[in-house]
Amino acid sequence: MTATAHTSSYYADSANDSRERNSLSEVLETDVCVIGAGYTGLSSALHLLEAGFKVVVLEAARVGWGASGRNGGQIVNSYSRDLDVIESTVGKAQAKLFGEMAFEGGRIIRERIEKYQIDCDLKNGGVFAAINRKQMGHLQQQKALWERYGHTEQLQLLDDAGIRQVVNTDRYIGGLLDKSGGHIHPLNLALGEARTVESLGGKIFEDSAVVRIDEGEYPIVHTANGQVKARFVVVAGNAYLGKLLPQLAAKSMPCGTQVITTEPLGEELAHSLLPQDYCVEDCNYLLDYFRLSADKRLIYGGGVVYGARDPENIKAIILPKLLKTFPQLKGVRIDYTWTGNFLLTLSRLPQVGRIGSNIYYSQGCSGHGVTYTHLAGKLIAEVLTGQAERFDAFASLPHYPFPGGHALRVPFSALGAWYYSLRDKLGI
Ligand SMILES: Cc1cc2nc3c(=O)[nH]c(=O)nc-3n(C[C@H](O)[C@H](O)[C@H](O)COP(=O)(O)OP(=O)(O)OC[C@H]3O[C@@H](n4cnc5c(N)ncnc54)[C@H](O)[C@@H]3O)c2cc1C
Repeated sequence: MTATAHTSSYYADSANDSRERNSLSEVLETDVCVIGAGYTGLSSALHLLEAGFKVVVLEAARVGWGASGRNGGQIVNSYSRDLDVIESTVGKAQAKLFGEMAFEGGRIIRERIEKYQIDCDLKNGGVFAAINRKQMGHLQQQKALWERYGHTEQLQLLDDAGIRQVVNTDRYIGGLLDKSGGHIHPLNLALGEARTVESLGGKIFEDSAVVRIDEGEYPIVHTANGQVKARFVVVAGNAYLGKLLPQLAAKSMPCGTQVITTEPLGEELAHSLLPQDYCVEDCNYLLDYFRLSADKRLIYGGGVVYGARDPENIKAIILPKLLKTFPQLKGVRIDYTWTGNFLLTLSRLPQVGRIGSNIYYSQGCSGHGVTYTHLAGKLIAEVLTGQAERFDAFASLPHYPFPGGHALRVPFSALGAWYYSLRDKLGI
C-alpha cells in the first residue's frame, strides 16, 4: 500500500479519507492513461469515464499530494491573466470563447460536489480586495470586462464601507465580490473525486511515478514495475512533472507558495474577522490569500519562491503578512505551515496541447488553478470525443521561454517580481 505520505498540513490532518492504493506492478491495457492524480488528472478521468472511456490513473505519490491537496482552497473564476490580455493575444472573436468558459470551472466543481456528494466544506463567495486606488480601478475594469462576456449576475463592487463588512481590517479601500467564487477543503475535494473515479470503474495507482512514455499508435507508459498501453495519454503532472517531457519544461517554471494555519479561533473571533465567511485575495502582484476553515481557523497564504526551493521558516515569511492584515491576532498560535508548487508560464496562461496525435497535456495555470483544472478535464474529454474547438483554443495560445534561459530564469523572474511588488507598495 502507499508508502508516500501527504505533506504535513492542516488538510492532511483533516482529510476525510485515508484510503491507500496499490502501486502499479502489472501490464495493463486501457483507453486512456492519465499521469497525475491532482485536479487536472482527476477531472480528466471523471469526464472521460462519464463519456464511456476506460481510464487508468498513475500517481507518483498519493491522490492530491501536489498543489491540489495543499492549496488555499479558493474557487477563483477566470484565468491568471485576464480576458483583456487574451483579447490582445488572440483577437476579439476567439476571445469570446475564452470569455464564455471563464466561469465554467467553478460550475463544474459545484456540479461534482452535488452529483457525487463530495464532502469538502463548500462555501460560496470570494472577494478581490484592493489596497490602493489603482487596484480599485483595475477591479472596476475587471467587472466591466467580465460583464461584457455575460457574467453579469454574480459580481458586486464593494466600497470602503462594503469591504469592511466582509473583512475586518483597515488594509483595503474596496473590493470586488464574486458570489460564484468560494472555498473548499482542497484535499477532500481531490479525495472525493478519486473515490468517484473508482466508483465509475476507473483505476488509480499510487506510488507509481511514470518514468518514460513510448510514443506510437498505442503509447506505452512505464513506471518502475509496470506498464500501461493506451489509446491516449493525458499528462497532468504540472509543477511536479520534472523532466518527463523536457519540451514542456522549457516554457514553464515551478514556483512555491506558502500557507500557514492558526489554531481554531472560536466562532466569535472568526466571525469578527470574516463575517460573511468569504475567501479573500488581495490585488498585489505577489498576493496574500486567506479564508476560514470549517473549524474556524484562519488559513493564510502568500509569497512566491521562483524555482520552487522550499523555504526554511515559513512562519517567519507568512505570519507578518497575516498580522499586517489582522493585527488583532497578535499572539495567535500557528498550528500548521507548509509549502506547495504551482507551475508558472511567462504569459500566466495555461500551457495546453498535444504531443503527436494521442498524448495530451494541460498545465501551468500560474497560481489560479482550482477552477481552470476542472475545466481542463472537461476540454480533454471533449477533444477525445471529437470536439476539439475549446481545447484547441487553449492550445493555440503562444508560449515563450523565460528570459535568462534555464540558468538565469529564477533570478530574472525574482527581479521582475521585486519591481512589480515595489509598484504595489508605491501604489503606481
Ligand atoms: C500552496 C498553494 C496554494 C494555492 N492556492 C490556490 C487557490 O487558493 N486557488 C486557486 O485557484 N489555485 C491555487 N493554487 C494553484 C492550484 O492548486 C493548482 O493550479 C492546481 O491544484 C493544479 O492541479 P494539477 O492537477 O494540475 O497539479 P497537482 O495538483 O500538482 O497534481 C500533479 C500530480 O501529478 C503527479 N505527478 C507528477 N509527475 C508525475 C509522474 N511522472 N508520474 C506520476 N505522477 C506524477 C504529482 O505527484 C501530483 O500529485 C495554489 C497552489 C499552491 C501550491
